[in-house]
Parts: sequence; structure tokens; C-alpha cells
Amino acid sequence: MRIAILGAGISGLVCARALAQAGHHATVWEKSRSLGGRCASRKFGDHVVDHGVQYFTLRDPKVREEVLRLCGSKLKVLPNPILLAGQEGELYRAGEERFYVQDGNNRLGTLLAEGVLVRREAEVKRIEKAGKKWRVQGEEYDAVVSSCPWPQTAALLGKKTSSPVYDPCLTVLLEYLVAREDAGGQSAYARMDPTGRDPLAWTACENVKIGRIMEGSTVYVIQASPNYSRDHLEQSPEYWASDLQVLLEKLWHLDPDKRGSVFAHRWRYARSCVDREMPRELPAGIHLCGDSVCESRLEAVWQSGWETAQKILG
Ligand SMILES: Cc1cc2nc3c(=O)[nH]c(=O)nc-3n(C[C@H](O)[C@H](O)[C@H](O)COP(=O)(O)OP(=O)(O)OC[C@H]3O[C@@H](n4cnc5c(N)ncnc54)[C@H](O)[C@@H]3O)c2cc1C
Repeated sequence: MRIAILGAGISGLVCARALAQAGHHATVWEKSRSLGGRCASRKFGDHVVDHGVQYFTLRDPKVREEVLRLCGSKLKVLPNPILLAGQEGELYRAGEERFYVQDGNNRLGTLLAEGVLVRREAEVKRIEKAGKKWRVQGEEYDAVVSSCPWPQTAALLGKKTSSPVYDPCLTVLLEYLVAREDAGGQSAYARMDPTGRDPLAWTACENVKIGRIMEGSTVYVIQASPNYSRDHLEQSPEYWASDLQVLLEKLWHLDPDKRGSVFAHRWRYARSCVDREMPRELPAGIHLCGDSVCESRLEAVWQSGWETAQKILG
């Protein structure tokens, strides 16, 4: 079979890999230059920072084995705890094993893409029926798998989405030109507010990840809450980045005079809403994987990529 996979995020790559390993001709079409989708990391000055997936769980033995085989000694455990906002001394899921990839979590995308045919910088704008087949980027396929967020897939299929299906997330990376020990003195990795009331839904210090941050600097990642992100989505990044950085500095006792670089990123489709309407009635030969059909968690989208491949393979 010839199968087109839209998107080189984790789910699309896992799906393509499984199909290729079963002897089928799988081509991944990816609109951007990078691999991994929202499992994203970037160079931030001389640092490497995860601005998408912060960490991941490996509860499923099969996913765990595969990630370990791909990453080897670059797979690291995050030892530092996550504090819960407004609950003095309480930890988020104390004892949970949390992982990251030393060189950047996006390395998972690069590793998964080895041996897979990926066409980068190739945004799919149409999926057309061609007899019993489907035409994508001028090529004919027996099946198409979309791993894009559902609103993007729906647009390609000429369908409409009514209620919101994804929450946006405004993200800010902030550098402080001071060693971590002198930058607030906290040993926790992060603080999260699961209630959604605090604009700072997530703040995390990247220094706890080995080899990421240059000596003498401290780097924080901020993720704004869904409500804050939705309210400020169309505003200029300068406005919301400076608003959020003031809140961060107050929370972690950071000195504004030591502030270095700032980077702001707008994730329009960050995580799928829990109570969303699931996509239904897809045309024959069109399949979905990723968090349009599962939870927004790296491990869950990995499994969904694999499951979609098994469905196609019968
Ligand atoms: C800020 C943030 C923090 C997060 N933190 C965590 C975390 O700590 N732990 C965790 O487990 N999960 C986290 N998540 C959720 C996790 O990132 C996602 O659920 C997961 O990465 C989604 O993978 P995917 O393969 O389904 O989709 P994606 O990674 O979005 O992949 C889809 C790909 O499709 C491409 N694409 C879209 N449209 C087209 C088109 N028309 N043509 C071609 N290509 C196209 C996109 O460029 C993208 O590469 C976070 C998400 C965000 C945004």
C-alpha cells in the first residue's frame, strides 16, 4: 500500500515507521522544517530549551522499551518535584517517573524519522479523491493518515468544527544571567496550577535538565493557562510576554535586573479539550492519529500512531 501521513509529530512518525516496517510505502508530509511537532525544542542563545513537551511518562512497557532503545543513555529521569499552586508543600503526582531527552525532547522526532521518508517544508493544502485512491501533493495513495490537530484536518476535508476542540497556549522562555543557586534558591523543577485560575499554569526551570543551560545562567519556561492564552492570543507577544514575566519573577523571586533573552511562542492548537466532540464519519481511506483522537500526552499520541498503523494493516 501507498500511504500518506500528514505531519511529522510523534504520532505521525510512529505510524509511518510501523507502516514502513510492515513493508508498505509510507510518505510523511510535514509543513515545517523541524521534526517532532509539538515535541519541540529550540536553541535559545547558547541553551537548549523544550518549548513544547516538557517531560513525558513511560507507563506503557512497549512505549518505554521503544523510547529506551531509540534514546539509550540520552533518556534521563527528572528527579526534581513539581509543586502545586496554592497548596503549600503539596507535590504534583509525587513519585511519578518523568523523563526527558538530554539533547532536547525534539530529538525523539529526529530518531523516529530515521529510515522514514519525510518530505519537509511541504504543507498539504488539499486532499482530493482520485477514484478509489486519494491525491496528496500530486501523488496517489491508498490511504491517508492525518496527525494534524483536528481543526486543521477538518479544514483539509472541507468539514467545519463548531465548539473549541483545542486550547491554545502562550509560551515564554526567559533567561536570567545568574547561576541557579543565586536565582531564587528553589530546588523544585516546576510549579503548576491545574485549576486554570492562575495565568501561570506552568513555570519550570530548565536547569534541572542535564547539559541544557550554560553555566552562570538560569532559564525558565512559562505556559499560560488556557483562559489567559485564549484572551491574549491575538495580542502582540511583547505585551503578554512582559505581563507573564512579571508574574514569574514575583513567584520565583527572580531579579528583573538580571533578565537576559526572552522568546515568546504562540501555540494555537496546544492541547485537545477534554470534553471536545470527537471527529466522526471520516471518508473511507482517511484515518486519524495523534491528540485529535486521544489525550494530549506524548505517550498517548505515540500509542495512537501505532494503533492507527495496526488498523490500516488489518
Ligand atoms: C506548550 C505545550 C506543552 C506540552 N507539554 C507536554 C508535556 O510536558 N508532556 C506531554 O506528554 N505532552 C505535552 N504536550 C502535549 C503534546 O505536545 C502533544 O499532545 C503531542 O506532541 C501531539 O503530537 P501529535 O503527533 O498528535 O501532533 P503534533 O506534534 O502537532 O504533530 C502534527 C504535525 O503536523 C504538522 N502539520 C500540521 N498541518 C499540516 C499540513 N497541512 N501539512 C503538513 N503538515 C502539517 C505540524 O507542523 C506538526 O509537525 C504539550 C503541548 C504543548 C503545546
